[in-house]
Amino acid sequence: MNDAQLGDDADLLLHGGRIRTFDPTGSVVDALAVRAGRIVALGADALRLRAAETIDLDGRTALPGVNDAHLHAAWLGARWPHLFFSDTPPHEQPSGRLVHSAEDRRNALRSAWRLLAELGITSYTEPGIGPGEDEGETGCFGTAMMDTYLELHRSGAQTSRVTLLRLFGELDGTADLATFERGIRLPKPETDPRWLAVTGVKIFADGIPPMTTAWVSEPYLDGSSGELLPQGAEGALASYRRMIALAVERGEQVAVHATGDRSIEEFLRVLEAAGSSGSAPHYVVHADLASPAQIARMRAVGAGFAVQPLIAEHTRAWAGAQLGAERTAAAWPLDEMIASGALTTLTSDAPIATPDWRISLDAALALLGRDDAEARTALLRRVTLDPARQDGAAQWKGSLEVGKVADITVLDEDPAEPGRAFGGIGIARTVVDGRTVFESGR
Ligand SMILES: [Zn+2]
Repeated sequence: MNDAQLGDDADLLLHGGRIRTFDPTGSVVDALAVRAGRIVALGADALRLRAAETIDLDGRTALPGVNDAHLHAAWLGARWPHLFFSDTPPHEQPSGRLVHSAEDRRNALRSAWRLLAELGITSYTEPGIGPGEDEGETGCFGTAMMDTYLELHRSGAQTSRVTLLRLFGELDGTADLATFERGIRLPKPETDPRWLAVTGVKIFADGIPPMTTAWVSEPYLDGSSGELLPQGAEGALASYRRMIALAVERGEQVAVHATGDRSIEEFLRVLEAAGSSGSAPHYVVHADLASPAQIARMRAVGAGFAVQPLIAEHTRAWAGAQLGAERTAAAWPLDEMIASGALTTLTSDAPIATPDWRISLDAALALLGRDDAEARTALLRRVTLDPARQDGAAQWKGSLEVGKVADITVLDEDPAEPGRAFGGIGIARTVVDGRTVFESGR
């Protein structure tokens, strides 16, 4: 029997630093107490409790645990340390099948989870695992990887909370309506949603502007307009709309990879016709060419955006060659998304870009074109609170409030203070469910 069971009031007490709670009033407190993985007291109330373990923050800053709302963890773990946006030359990039055995798959997930803990990431969305990728090249997205997720989930091996979207077509490829319809009727696996929540489906609507594969209303400079990826007997558009409607009807969360304004428009029309949404909000992944009017309509319908500042940074010049200067300047409208109040998450899409959210937030600051405490706080909320809303889990994670889970990222310096790169701020400690899963220097 340990001391906690003998009558301590808390398992863990954090004190001696700045604890940014991201509660509705933006409170900053100096102490936080945890019992059984939950926050039980803040500030003076926490300091009055007797704790089994005490951590002196020594002037550091604690935030709600960082949540990367679009990150391919299995693929990241299998490829690590190779990222697509990196100095690794193409001929040295991993290719072909990346995982061959159950042990390879377990190692890929374990390697991703270690890395995410080092980066202060406590939750993420794995956006697309399912039978559509059973014949896929890498082996990272098929049913076998789903089974590995379930195996490690059930053995209690996770150090990150996971939201998972099922995939009934190819990743970044086509999907057939009849196959999708059969797939979405398959029962979801039984899981503890606090650790592995299978919330919905991923649908690929189109490609990306630099490849002229985003479906756009105004043609590219070469005269083409891109096209939809879904397929079916009634044609691409009817199949796309039916996939979204089917998923919405079944109460699934729908995440659509859509970069072109026409793909976004058709998604919006189905959502507007459907009315209310399910337990977790629907959202567009990428949304490079969303118009201000579409952003306002997305907000009105309760849907959101998962956007990637590093993709904007890395592909802007390339996209400009296809779109022209004016449309490229209006692309990746992060400022409009935040100003509109639409649910917006800042994500990495790792292993496309680095999973290091600090680098991503520096790219987001560049997109906003300003660096003040308000902008920084807005961005920090988009890697903590808004992702929890996207997960349909804001009632129990995403901010540091009594009753919520103790998922905490401790940083060497206060990231809300202007004038320094997020990228230069050290990760001191990562706490998930009240347990330290990473400590700097250990
Ligand atoms: Zn992705």
